[in-house]
Amino acid sequence: MKRLGKNTKGYSGEAVDMAAVVGDCVAAARAHGWAVEEIHPAPKLILGLTRPASQHTQNAKRKTHHHPRIYISTGIHGDEPAGPLAVRQLLEANAWPPGVDIWLCPCLNPTGFARNRRENAEGVDLNRDYREPKAAETVAHVAWLKRQPSFDVCLCLHEDWEAHGFYLYEQNPDGHPSLAGAMIAHLARVCPIDTSETIEGRPAQNGIIRPNLDPRLRPQWPEAFFLLTHKARLTYTLEAPSDFPLPARVAALVTGVQTALEAISKPAGLEKGRKI
Ligand SMILES: [Zn+2]
Repeated sequence: MKRLGKNTKGYSGEAVDMAAVVGDCVAAARAHGWAVEEIHPAPKLILGLTRPASQHTQNAKRKTHHHPRIYISTGIHGDEPAGPLAVRQLLEANAWPPGVDIWLCPCLNPTGFARNRRENAEGVDLNRDYREPKAAETVAHVAWLKRQPSFDVCLCLHEDWEAHGFYLYEQNPDGHPSLAGAMIAHLARVCPIDTSETIEGRPAQNGIIRPNLDPRLRPQWPEAFFLLTHKARLTYTLEAPSDFPLPARVAALVTGVQTALEAISKPAGLEKGRKI
């Protein structure tokens, strides 16, 4: 697969009509029995979509069984359209593994998408605002997250315009079975993997970065740090390479989410976790 060669000083790829994409997500979610909640009053495009697995399993009486709880978010950077397009495709396909509860935020930065740029309309990088939230979007999102239960795994979908291929971050401080290897193995069929030994200044192995970070020591928190601290002990940040065609980036993120969900719904097949 050839690089586009046009994202040299920043993202210069396609812009998407985010209102239309989010509208499609809502229509698909409602059609398949999901709950739709407005997280932020204006713009009304920051939504929390939830799919309770108990509605979809045959034996609804087995309430004591713990369904894996999955959180998926994307669209926090307004110049990364592949994530919202990927979750739209997943919602429309509605081919989720049985028995998983899903919380999904399809777009966390609608004003950024209106400008095709990373930050929101006020110039704030929302993915640095989760320690002491100030931006209205982050304040509303954190308030919503605090009303939700804890999650078994969190998937944050991004793009990186500088990347040489797909890569992901795994935060797994308790050494849970890792989903990373399975995701990369499946992804490699649809998108090049960044096999650099150093990515974003961190050691990497076959597109996997396992940073040993203590959020308490960091002044600016991305969403993943809030999730790791308050909601989950296993988080992934997936980074699709913007300098490859948009359909490949979307396919990569779709495949990554599908692989993670399949793996967590059948935990016997997981690779052994690694302490970091
Ligand atoms: Zn991003």
